[in-house]
Amino acid sequence: MSAIIHNPNPLMTNKGIQTQAIHAGEAPDRNTGASTPNLVMSSTFVVDEEISFSANNLNEDTPFVYTRWSNPTTLQLEQKLAVLEQAEGCTAFASGMAASASVLLKFLSSGDHLVIGNTNYPGTAEMARDTLTRLGISVTPVDTSELDSIRNAILENTRMIWIETPSNPLLRISDIAAIAEIARQQKALLVVDSTFATPIATRPLTLGADLVVHSLTKYIGGHGDAMGGAVCGKQSLLGPLRGEGLIHYGGVISPFNAWLIMRGMATLPIRMRSHQENALAVASFLEGHAKVEKVIYPGLASHPQHELASRQMDNFSGIISFRTANPKRLAGRMMQKLEVVHYAVSLGHHRSLVYLLQTDDLIGSSYRLEGRELDKYRDTAGAGVFRLSVGLEDARDIIADLELVL
Ligand SMILES: *Cc1c(COP(=O)(O)O)cnc(C)c1O
Repeated sequence: MSAIIHNPNPLMTNKGIQTQAIHAGEAPDRNTGASTPNLVMSSTFVVDEEISFSANNLNEDTPFVYTRWSNPTTLQLEQKLAVLEQAEGCTAFASGMAASASVLLKFLSSGDHLVIGNTNYPGTAEMARDTLTRLGISVTPVDTSELDSIRNAILENTRMIWIETPSNPLLRISDIAAIAEIARQQKALLVVDSTFATPIATRPLTLGADLVVHSLTKYIGGHGDAMGGAVCGKQSLLGPLRGEGLIHYGGVISPFNAWLIMRGMATLPIRMRSHQENALAVASFLEGHAKVEKVIYPGLASHPQHELASRQMDNFSGIISFRTANPKRLAGRMMQKLEVVHYAVSLGHHRSLVYLLQTDDLIGSSYRLEGRELDKYRDTAGAGVFRLSVGLEDARDIIADLELVL
């Protein structure tokens, strides 16, 4: 009987990242010789020994029992991602938000304090400000790209620092190694939402982070057809997270989605290379366009943290934010006229996606920025930024589409 954590599939830890993306965690089926991983949709498993029914008694030798606890297809995805992140382990979830919510609720309790980025993924931002504070956890949102802002926010009861780098939607970069040092001194957990970066660009655990969170719905799945999330890190944290965050809260990924995402992951390294190449071409086109007031892309020398991005990231990823006059009118034209780029939320798909993130909407509902932070946001974003997730189409077709509407 296979075990939950231990699995004989090869991890390929001594191989290159392209080889790992294809082979790590997978092996031909021992019964049939099938080269591609089996999709095991079974929700329950026949056992030949008494297994405790409590999540608290789960350990590395527990066989497959029930898919909310673990599943052979999902395990392969978890192992592949753990290898790419250079993590001891990974736990998959139904969505990025299921992963994020589980980390926040499992590792924070009433009376604790959280320091979190003040312009990050709106779902995380809203959960921190509304749900966590309702549960008696205090929250200080700061610009995590400024180390002093983090230092000044630390309190005696700070238990977690949560950063997103690059952050949504202004693509601010946070210095993971430096923040890990602040977290270590405080004995707080450093959690990095690395969805925009992917393990191809950054491996936060190697820089001192405790946990890495991903929305697998984005680059890692990469094809816009399956939702998923994951948390990677040390087994000593993932064991308790699996017990409470997965088995009790129940945000388990469908094995079918795990299988689709694993198939997408096989091409993650080569996709990220093309995303970056296309994004650089599109970003320089936008920078040279008279109607474009500002282009934000970590790969451009004009990005305020280009130096840090170059040091911390092996790939600048494929997301560009840009600003124009009259953004609402341009959004309307985009909805009518774009041929290749889809006007839609989400990011990291093979298709290019663009969406207007209006400043009043974001700062009023999700971010609630004030004073200097509000001024900084408005200075960069104006009335709103277009978040463009540059896909894998021919760069000249993406550019032609944008030229048509600008
Ligand atoms: C999309 C996203 C999430 C949420 O992931 P879902 O899979 O949509 O639940 C969290 N963080 C970031 C940075 C994201 O882009």
